[in-house]
Amino acid sequence: MKNSTKQKLLEELNQKMAQECKCALKATVLNVVPGEGSADGDILFIGEAPGKKEDEQGKPFIGAAGKFLSEMLASIGLSREDIYITNVVKYRPPENRDPLPDEVADCWPWLEAQIQLINPKLIVPLGRHAMERFLKSKKISEVHGQLFEIELPNLGKRNFYTLYHPAAALYNGSMRKVLLEDFSRIPAILEVIKKRRTTLCHTSTM
Ligand code: URA
Repeated sequence: MKNSTKQKLLEELNQKMAQECKCALKATVLNVVPGEGSADGDILFIGEAPGKKEDEQGKPFIGAAGKFLSEMLASIGLSREDIYITNVVKYRPPENRDPLPDEVADCWPWLEAQIQLINPKLIVPLGRHAMERFLKSKKISEVHGQLFEIELPNLGKRNFYTLYHPAAALYNGSMRKVLLEDFSRIPAILEVIKKRRTTLCHTSTM
């Protein structure tokens, strides 16, 4: 899978991003963190922005939150190589502050291009900040663990399944329990999406 055409195109896109993205944060970071994993997987996980460890290594979700994410993936029979993980903003904001609107705007076309290329069956925003970029004016306490099909400019109809951010849930017992429960339902959610697509294909050929 790693050598598929899509994977090569994604690597080319990520290189182009590293060269051409206009985000002002580029000036202060050690590395761009474009994303990692399979371009051919069913699921795209999206966090908000890289942290210190991610900046040092140029890879997303490699700290404690990333370890927890890997454990949850393993619990549903997946590894990081089966899915793609990226962030809304591709560079670490200084002191891990929230990204500024201009920084999000400059990185956004690159995230859109990644979504268009990967064309995942399911997009999983991790945490409130990532969720708000797609499900505007929703509350994570109300929408976590629910499947939403939403039509977005440049992206068309997409399936979203928001989770609490692994970093927020790591040391919060009740949030951790909810996150683990929501995560365990991902395979069933994917089945729902696949069945829905099959039904739509059948009806459109009738
Ligand atoms: N938190 C995020 O949202 N993204 C990362 O890459 C790491 C931590």
